[in-house]
Amino acid sequence: MAGVQGYIFDLDRTLVDLQSFTDYAAALRDVSALVGEQEGAAVPDADWDAPTLSTMAILVALAGDERWEAASRAVAAHERAAIPQSRAMPGLASLEDALAGALRAVVTLLPEDVARETLAHHGIHVDVVVGRDPLIPAKPSGAGLVVAADRLGVPVSECVMIGDSTWDYAAAVDAGAAFIGVPVSSTAFTAEVPVAEGLLAAVGAARA
Ligand SMILES: [Mg+2]
Repeated sequence: MAGVQGYIFDLDRTLVDLQSFTDYAAALRDVSALVGEQEGAAVPDADWDAPTLSTMAILVALAGDERWEAASRAVAAHERAAIPQSRAMPGLASLEDALAGALRAVVTLLPEDVARETLAHHGIHVDVVVGRDPLIPAKPSGAGLVVAADRLGVPVSECVMIGDSTWDYAAAVDAGAAFIGVPVSSTAFTAEVPVAEGLLAAVGAARA
């Protein structure tokens, strides 16, 4: 993968595990109380629990809807509450060395402020964070990757996305970026998706 100019990371379960400590069942109840019965958007299946997948699919479905803001805020309260318990994914402590000054961004389903607080909690420096934003279509759309590459000042086609889920893969394909999966379960990806064993191996593979 010679010529990689920028690294675009997913956050949750790629850099830091916040998801396992976030009460998405409660978040989903709060969202349902706000917006009523809302069908989720047609999105890729993922190796997430059902409430997490439903919550994210509903937020995607509410894009462009005036109720999105309140729904996102309700979910964010639960995500923020998980930051103190969140855990660094294996290899995170050595990521800075592995990147050796390379440009890096985060594109996440979390709101930018929650993402930045999570990264700060774990002492990770990232210049560009594209989070859950009413004006930028969320993953599985590739729009966030295009915005991130633009903010890094490099073509998205010369970026590699590193992430744990099918939504990350779909976003990379949509944006025309390379992709390396860092699966946390054996069912995370189908066989055609390139994967590495953890964050540092993924950065190494991107550089090779
Ligand atoms: Mg993730």
